[in-house]
Amino acid sequence: MDGVPLARGDRVTFSLVASCGQCFFCTEAGLPQKCRSLLKYGHRPVSDRWPLTGGLAQYVYLQPGTSVCRVPEEVSDTVAATAMCAGATIGQALSGMVGKACGALLLIGMGMLGAWGVRVGLERGFDRILAVDVDQERLEGALRAGATAVLCSRGLPPDAVEAFVKEHTGGRGADTCIELSGKASAVQAGLAALRVGGTLKLVGSVVPGESLQLDPYANVTRMTTIQGVHNYHPKHLAAALDLVTDRFHHDAVQSGIGQQYPLCGVDGAFRSTERREALRVAITFG
Ligand SMILES: [Zn+2]
Repeated sequence: MDGVPLARGDRVTFSLVASCGQCFFCTEAGLPQKCRSLLKYGHRPVSDRWPLTGGLAQYVYLQPGTSVCRVPEEVSDTVAATAMCAGATIGQALSGMVGKACGALLLIGMGMLGAWGVRVGLERGFDRILAVDVDQERLEGALRAGATAVLCSRGLPPDAVEAFVKEHTGGRGADTCIELSGKASAVQAGLAALRVGGTLKLVGSVVPGESLQLDPYANVTRMTTIQGVHNYHPKHLAAALDLVTDRFHHDAVQSGIGQQYPLCGVDGAFRSTERREALRVAITFG
């Protein structure tokens, strides 16, 4: 991505998708992540046409149109792996937002994307970062990592998120909310917690799920913006890697990565994920 040719033995990571660089979405729309002939790593079965699609394998075949970044020396393999997924996606969600005027950021769902949400939110200068999850332990991690305030929403009534956000924003509401859980009730809560003129970024709803009722009048009069975020522009991968060259951010992401498993122990890795032992588990090779 930086134009410097790669050398044998360089540690690299790569964009989640390969795109053609020529279609309407790659050029005029500025959305190469939605290219007409998009190929997405780790999201499709092995085939004769593309035998090594990424994920749970020692090798991956990088298609033409993939953006490749050299991993900076100070960034661990595991943190680099989360940068190419969670980190760059959060960068896309907060694209163009920077400076004190960003105000209050609300994050709903504090898995690895939420952890990166705190990192990118702090870097961009949001003056308050509010985190919501159903898991108290994850929220304690978010507080240690720099969140301003947290709410465990488990068992609470639907309007609890709005009340929590208003309490921490002088009654105003969140300037930006990133919804990472994919739950319709959480989308509704995020929308209700926005300030007038606020923006809701939908990231977590990556599989079909429940619909929700939308009150167009409320959204007109409150001047809210709702935006879907899917995949990311490759520039956000380079920015995510750059962010974690800072030790403070790097170690915070690293602390969310649990035990590392060799490929032959992959069943244990899945069990660990089911037990929610860490924000991510790592599969290693070697
Ligand atoms: Zn294209």
